[in-house]
Amino acid sequence: MDIILNIQNLTKTYQSGGNTLTVLNDISFELESGSTMSIVGPSGSGKTTLLGLCAGLDRSSSGMVELNHIKLNNLSEDQRAQVRNQHVGFIFQNFQLLPTLTAIENVMVPLELRGEKNIRSRAADLLDKVGLADRGHHYPSQLSGGEQQRVSLARAFSNSPKILFADEPTGNLDAETSEKVVKLIFDLNKEAGTTLVLVTHDLELAAKTQRILRVKGGSLISDELTTTETPDKINYAGR
Ligand code: ADP
Repeated sequence: MDIILNIQNLTKTYQSGGNTLTVLNDISFELESGSTMSIVGPSGSGKTTLLGLCAGLDRSSSGMVELNHIKLNNLSEDQRAQVRNQHVGFIFQNFQLLPTLTAIENVMVPLELRGEKNIRSRAADLLDKVGLADRGHHYPSQLSGGEQQRVSLARAFSNSPKILFADEPTGNLDAETSEKVVKLIFDLNKEAGTTLVLVTHDLELAAKTQRILRVKGGSLISDELTTTETPDKINYAGR
């Protein structure tokens, strides 16, 4: 079993007005490569913070984050960015596209950062994959929410990530568009074996993943395999 994400005794605190605010408290779990998992819990329970720490966007106060066998704790901001560029896809609830760049240019940015070749045609292929071949020259403000989210998926897929983190990927989308986005994300898992970690309020979406972590008040209160039995899940449960 290959562990792609190993979280041990993870704690995150913030200092405010002389007080210490503990946002995450002693979280530990291991995640198998190629599996799918959701993080659920009430608003303010620490889900986004946990996702950001796992993905190397932020740094823990104590405890260990090991992503694809690389310990992130002692890395500099630049080194963490490098790990993210190589191994991680991240989808934000509010898309976070660059407003002054067109859809295709938004997808080209990470390709360019990695010094890749033929980036315009690669970005065009990625937009085609998410069904937006004809929207490359539109600016984010000229795209619907669902289209913007699909551009952000194309951008997140651009490095063929080993692991994809998504924060409320369907949070701002209508039911039909949500379904499309969810399919693209799960196809990536099925076709490329990309590990998925989703933060969601949507329990139906969470039930589609193999495992659900529940957080409350910054603590992990349960860690369960889901019961729907697809062949993939049976393999996973019997590992
Ligand atoms: P969730 O995603 O479950 O809604 P978050 O991870 O966004 O929860 O936030 C958890 C808690 O951490 C909240 O109480 C939030 O106010 C607090 N928090 C998040 N970021 C900061 C920060 N930079 N400084 C202080 N408190 C923060």
